[in-house]
Amino acid sequence: MMGIGFEDIKVNGLKADDMSKIFNGVNKFYADYPQMKGFVKVFTTVNRKKDLMVAATTNSLKHYDDDDWSKWAMMPELKVNRAQLADFQALNEQQIATGFWVKTKDYTGTINHEMGHMINLKRTFDAHGINAGPIPHDRHDQYLPAMHDFGTSKVDDEVMREAFKSANIEYSKDNIAKYISRYGATDPAEAFAEAISNEDPDNVITKYVKQITKRELEKNDRTAP
Ligand SMILES: [Zn+2]
Repeated sequence: MMGIGFEDIKVNGLKADDMSKIFNGVNKFYADYPQMKGFVKVFTTVNRKKDLMVAATTNSLKHYDDDDWSKWAMMPELKVNRAQLADFQALNEQQIATGFWVKTKDYTGTINHEMGHMINLKRTFDAHGINAGPIPHDRHDQYLPAMHDFGTSKVDDEVMREAFKSANIEYSKDNIAKYISRYGATDPAEAFAEAISNEDPDNVITKYVKQITKRELEKNDRTAP
């Protein structure tokens, strides 16, 4: 996939147009955050008509060898809901109008939101000294604290806290709803993902969230010369 880094792609029924739109979005994100390149290993689609879910990414722990059930891997996954692609623009406009979603112009914003979750998954792995990919047999236990931190949105919360502090605005659910989106106010991980995907150039919280994130990713830049 031209260096995009997916190792496993399962995309039943996805239109070629949508696929290239999504891959272009991922490539553009990797250009903005080069340390993330190749972090997402799996790309799949689901088809859930009654579900508002656009894409889910958080479950990355996968069993990968049917002959050996003790073999597990961390395989960060981008999952797209095909059912929403056809009328995504209408849904997006409606959600932005009510302030539930942050301002984005098209599906690229959704990719950026999901990749926002991936940033903090990678930063959590970095903090625990672990990588995506197969988990060595004798190290299963070391992955549990990392998944706990990711599950409790530890990194997301730290970044949001620092961003609000830098902007001199009180860090509260009301202010997340006001400065980011109401969806962002549901959970620090969603606040972060909404902030990263926010396309309003004048949003002060978003500006700090991106700055802090780039600074932190650079600290663990294993691709730097
Ligand atoms: Zn999300």
